Amino acid sequence: MHKKIFQSSCLTSFLVLVTTIALIMGALFHFFEEQIQKELENEAGYLSQAVEKTGIHFFDGFEKQANRVTLVDADGKVLFDSDAEVEKLDNHADREEINAAMKNGTGKSIRYSQTLMEKTVNYAVRLSDGSILRVSTTQYTVAAVLLGMLQPILVVLAIVLALTLALSLRVSKAIIEPINGLDLEFPENNTAYEELTPLLRKLAEQNEIIEEQLADAHKKQVEFHLITENMSEGFLVIDKDANVLTYNSSALELFGITPPANGNVLAFCRARDFRDTVSKALAGDKAENTMMREERCYSMIANPVFEKEEVIGAVIIILDITERENRETLRREFTANVSHELKTPLTSISGFAELMKEGDVSPDTVVDFSASIYEEAQRLITLVTDIIKISELDGKSMPFQSETVDLYELSEEIISRLNGQAEKRNITLNLIGGKTEITGVRKILDEMFYNLMDNAIKYNKENGTVDVIINKMESGVTVLVRDTGIGIPAAHQSRVFERFYRVDKSHSKQVGGTGLGLAIVKHGAIYHHAETKLESIEGKGTTVAVRFGKDSFVRGE
Ligand code: ADP
Repeated sequence: MHKKIFQSSCLTSFLVLVTTIALIMGALFHFFEEQIQKELENEAGYLSQAVEKTGIHFFDGFEKQANRVTLVDADGKVLFDSDAEVEKLDNHADREEINAAMKNGTGKSIRYSQTLMEKTVNYAVRLSDGSILRVSTTQYTVAAVLLGMLQPILVVLAIVLALTLALSLRVSKAIIEPINGLDLEFPENNTAYEELTPLLRKLAEQNEIIEEQLADAHKKQVEFHLITENMSEGFLVIDKDANVLTYNSSALELFGITPPANGNVLAFCRARDFRDTVSKALAGDKAENTMMREERCYSMIANPVFEKEEVIGAVIIILDITERENRETLRREFTANVSHELKTPLTSISGFAELMKEGDVSPDTVVDFSASIYEEAQRLITLVTDIIKISELDGKSMPFQSETVDLYELSEEIISRLNGQAEKRNITLNLIGGKTEITGVRKILDEMFYNLMDNAIKYNKENGTVDVIINKMESGVTVLVRDTGIGIPAAHQSRVFERFYRVDKSHSKQVGGTGLGLAIVKHGAIYHHAETKLESIEGKGTTVAVRFGKDSFVRGE
């Protein structure tokens, strides 16, 4: 801008100066030309009067003057000429000024020399006898004057040029300085040029828009960060060369990388499945795959990102599906176990029935077989009932009604149901504690404590004891079911809560176990947000504690 203003200013100043000089010179020349014309007219006037009075004799002894004087008769023949010999001059009738004077009384003309350096200004006047008196003067032309004054003109032009340059430099600096000093952060605070006000206002408006857009973008970035950071799934965005652009901390944790993470995503994980997924997405196809990493199972979903039908990167989501896979395995195992558990009594029932169908069984044996069929059928019923119970807890589809339950009163009621069973083996049942109310689902709590007390009796020794202790504390409520039974070997203790897990299958079967009792306890506790703890010494006894914390509550309340 500075350069442009400087150039324009220089050019303008120079042009103005040159034009001014030219115009002044033109005006001066015009003025002098008019003066010469008047001078010629005056001189012609005096001379014509003199010639009218004295005739051609007026020129006798006429000395050469500054201007040339010529007398021509009415036919154009030269009678007198102050600058040349008359004989040598041709007829002047065709001279423009003389011809005009012959016709109109006066005539004038300007004739230029061949070099255009000189011009002759002529003025002619017709006398009363028809002869023509002409006065001429020779002057330098403008071109000649300019040529003659070339040196001083060039000097003047050089001075003018230097002055123009200096002034233009100052002017352009003076114009630019306030513009350079503009505060663009706060455009409306500037008072540099009034003409700039609309521009500065527009700038201020745009500044505001940009600020809003920046704030908006920042907000979106924060939102995006919050969303991705709170995702348990790993989230990665890569460019077309597989370089990491964005990631969340879950992704880094998963790959065991400490932030900041940059570079190629394939350096994060060299697993073949991961590499294949990334390559497929970058080739433009949606890719889904699973991979194992440090004993955990991950599912990967990679989607290509397109811009104008060209892949510019990919978005990769990595989910930890270990739990899901485990659940799936458990479900498969459960189905297999259920089928197996159901098949065993059914096979027995079918066997007894087949023998009875043959008809060659004694009446006493029929009674025994019927008793066995009844027993197996009862087992089946118990098994199916337990399966239904655990399915209800598992599926969470049943909306259980929660209520205030007094655990002491509930335990008393369960004990009364189990008394007969305990008495058969002379086992003493003790209930220790007092009224203890919690909010829970009575039906589930009943099943939980019934199973615990039932186990405590089933796996007890003759004349043993079962203590049910209800402990109310600041931090919550704990129910302990303690027996003096056979105990559980240490190797099995961590597994007895699994479905169908039994330490001694035949013993469990003998005492009417299904292998689902403790699984029901575990799921019931989970439902109530309670904790279960098992302590057991083989041969001495077992204690199972269910602890309801302060924040234990029932879903669906
Ligand atoms: P079951 O129907 O076989 O009793 P549970 O799930 O209730 O199934 O218990 C799983 C296994 O844990 C039992 O088969 C038994 O071996 C063991 N067990 C459970 N409770 C006790 C206990 N109080 N004393 C000793 N062993 C126990």
